[in-house]
Amino acid sequence: MITISDLHKSYPPRTGRGSEVEALKGINLEVKDGEIYGVVGQSGAGKSTLIRCVNLLERPTSGHITVAGQDLTALSDAELRVARHGIGMVFQHFNLLSSRTIAQNVELGLEITGLARNRRHARSREILDLVGLADRASAYPSQLSGGQKQRVGIARALAGNPKVLLSDEATSSLDPETTESILELLKSLNTELGLTILLITHEMEVVKRICDSAALIEDGRIVESGNVIGLLNTPRSKIAHALFPLGESRGEAGNTIIEIMYAGHLADEPIVGRLSREYGIDVNILGAAVELVSDHRVGRMRLELPGPVSAYGDAIGKLRSTGLYVEVLSEVAA
Ligand code: ADP
Repeated sequence: MITISDLHKSYPPRTGRGSEVEALKGINLEVKDGEIYGVVGQSGAGKSTLIRCVNLLERPTSGHITVAGQDLTALSDAELRVARHGIGMVFQHFNLLSSRTIAQNVELGLEITGLARNRRHARSREILDLVGLADRASAYPSQLSGGQKQRVGIARALAGNPKVLLSDEATSSLDPETTESILELLKSLNTELGLTILLITHEMEVVKRICDSAALIEDGRIVESGNVIGLLNTPRSKIAHALFPLGESRGEAGNTIIEIMYAGHLADEPIVGRLSREYGIDVNILGAAVELVSDHRVGRMRLELPGPVSAYGDAIGKLRSTGLYVEVLSEVAA
């Protein structure tokens, strides 16, 4: 649904004598039809620039953006205005017009498309109903809570019936409970309308809750990307480690430290019990977390086993053969 190829974006120097800022340094990304794709990264990594390039709010310096088979970078300004109807966008600070009612905010995008007034009213009623705000149509933004404002932002983005929704830190200004309800709304719009969502966020919780795929951006480059469950089983994945912070406890020198990742039915396996019962291993749990990752039960555990790894070849092999992902973090000489 969205293909980003070799995308570069440089900004001119902020001051006359400064140097150019190379915000994006060759981004490649593929978002499949119907998936929720999250791009994570620290402040200044290039997330915002990236998402603004997808609908050409920001003109790329070079590279191509294809949405639903159409290369946006090849379009004239007039053609681009039409293509943008197929791409909705929501913003961290909602960007609502305070002098307009909720319904009028939602209808704003439709006015530009030239839709007749009564059709606009009908569409805004329908879409406000979808986001749970049918009874607030004639209220003004200042009368709404943050979560309600973001629902209006989402309704406005969806009014033109887009295939793709871009979300620029949509939940970053909201408290955890409201974040949860907005994520639920995005997920249900994704499943019920088949809406493809590309979002940027600095909150791993967003990835954990709703993303099918994720990418990590660092200094203008994608350093890791893929299906979230697949990333959890990828050696030394930074995204996996950020999803499951296990603390810094590294055990004692001379011992073997392993990390185990498990998903689905394997999450019910009594791993520690098996290690101690079947292999007589004295296991010390250094950290453990079990979470729901886009509705799959997934866990990660860091274990300390006494002595060198050479003693555990058999046990580790057996664990791996059951489908568990096992990574040996510290190997000491036998
Ligand atoms: P993020 O969204 O991950 O915080 P941004 O895309 O906002 O990152 O910024 C990436 C880099 O581009 C930063 O170094 C930032 O200072 C720079 N940058 C962003 N917007 C502009 C701009 N309009 N002019 C100059 N530099 C910019």
